[in-house]
Amino acid sequence: MPLTLERSELLRTHNLIGGQWRDAAAGRQFAVTDPATAAVAAQVPDSDAADARSAVDAAHAAFPSWRATAPRARAQLLRRWHGLILAHAQDLARLISREQGKPLAEARGEVAYAASYVEWFAEEAAHIHGDVIPSPSPRRRMTAEHEPVGIVAAITPWNFPAAMIARKIAPALAAGCTVVAKPAEDTPLTSLALARLAEEAGVPAGVLNVVVASRERAAAVVAVWLADERVRKVTFTGSTPVGRHLAREAAATFKRVSLELGGNAPFIVFDDADLDAAVDGLMAAKFRNAGQTCVSPNRVFVHDAVHDAFVERLAARVQALHVGPATDAASQIGPLINARAVDKIEHHVRDALARGATLRVGGARLHADSGAHYFAPTVLVGVDATMACACEETFGPVVAITRFHTEAGVLAAANATPFGLAAYFYSRDVARCWRVADALEAGMVGINAGAISSEAAPFGGVKASGYGREGSRRGLDDYLQIKFRCQDA
Ligand code: NAD
Repeated sequence: MPLTLERSELLRTHNLIGGQWRDAAAGRQFAVTDPATAAVAAQVPDSDAADARSAVDAAHAAFPSWRATAPRARAQLLRRWHGLILAHAQDLARLISREQGKPLAEARGEVAYAASYVEWFAEEAAHIHGDVIPSPSPRRRMTAEHEPVGIVAAITPWNFPAAMIARKIAPALAAGCTVVAKPAEDTPLTSLALARLAEEAGVPAGVLNVVVASRERAAAVVAVWLADERVRKVTFTGSTPVGRHLAREAAATFKRVSLELGGNAPFIVFDDADLDAAVDGLMAAKFRNAGQTCVSPNRVFVHDAVHDAFVERLAARVQALHVGPATDAASQIGPLINARAVDKIEHHVRDALARGATLRVGGARLHADSGAHYFAPTVLVGVDATMACACEETFGPVVAITRFHTEAGVLAAANATPFGLAAYFYSRDVARCWRVADALEAGMVGINAGAISSEAAPFGGVKASGYGREGSRRGLDDYLQIKFRCQDA
């Protein structure tokens, strides 16, 4: 089915550098495909080091006047961008669904979520306060003021093509930084459309630059930004190995780094839980975006006393999920992003079954002859810590359930992972809620709640899930540096 947009110019197929929409300097292109059909959705620039350098030159040239802009003026501009994103929500949702595969209703939800960060940081822009420090002498004045860190390099994954980039660009612009951004190779079209709307909102040339590259050239583009002294911060969402590489390379020029990396979230159902609420929470947290979210529950621990009842209710709900293309209004689960993703999920299911787990629902690819990447929503029981699905993110529609007996035992198991992004649990015992939330090693804890992300809350992890927080009143901190001024009369 051809991609039809109300405003066809939102389908952008060029880099945005210094206010110009340009081909890659070397003229190369690569194809963005629709994961539901494997058909080519668009050809986009396959940029290299030369394009990456041009983007930094443009961001560097734009920085002095952008940082001098009044915070209120930056706020107004972000508000205009927010309004344009909402006004074009349907087109943006179509682009997201086309390149990423999530059902259209879910894609519209992502647009609203992305826009909420832009609005939030429009408000925060006008509240960047410093400190007046009590002075030891009447002849001395001391202040600590905030300045933008400088050029920010933003590198994003494919699972939320609008939200991931919006929650990096919005705080950077609010703080007075200029940006060079590289969206994921699977999903560049949404970022380019957002950049077009930012341009329309009045973001000056060079303040926001977007460079698109294939998987093969992504590292070469980012390497230029890592090596360039003028780039003062790297903000990355993606896998832990790539995050580790970026942190290492950024150290050579002492750049600030924020990393939102992979997770391995536990989801614990205690014997005193409201089971219906726990099933609802797990369905919301696990099956959003077909399980391709970093905060997705990857290990579900259910107390012995409620295990069978919980599994029965969950299995009925999972069995009823409708899997299909984003264009089908009935679809609740779309295709996975690519063949690699389905291979990994299939490997996790086979490995679990070979090691003694039992299949309750699903367990196989769907519509494989269509060339698309579907996997049936799946429930596995009898999972243990030796299985691949318990050690690594499955990043797909698979619920892996383990029985537990004691609170101390389940806490030890939940924390026995290098990752620490999100954790969830269900219990009606207030004292246990405090105790368990304290003990879980995670940046975010959902207590009787499965959908916890919000622009007003600090999003981020601990341990191998990275550092830095996006959103909330602290979300600007990573984009600001402090200048202490000491003046004697
Ligand atoms: P990825 O790390 O492979 O890719 C992310 C980005 O890094 C892409 O833009 C890619 O082009 C770029 N990249 C890849 N190799 C690079 C290199 N050598 N040098 C520089 N850049 C490089 O991750 P992915 O597969 O696209 O995304 C899935 C991962 O992202 C999962 O692990 C998921 O948990 C994580 N994620 C985390 C969050 C969070 O907020 N913590 C949110 C969404 C996704």
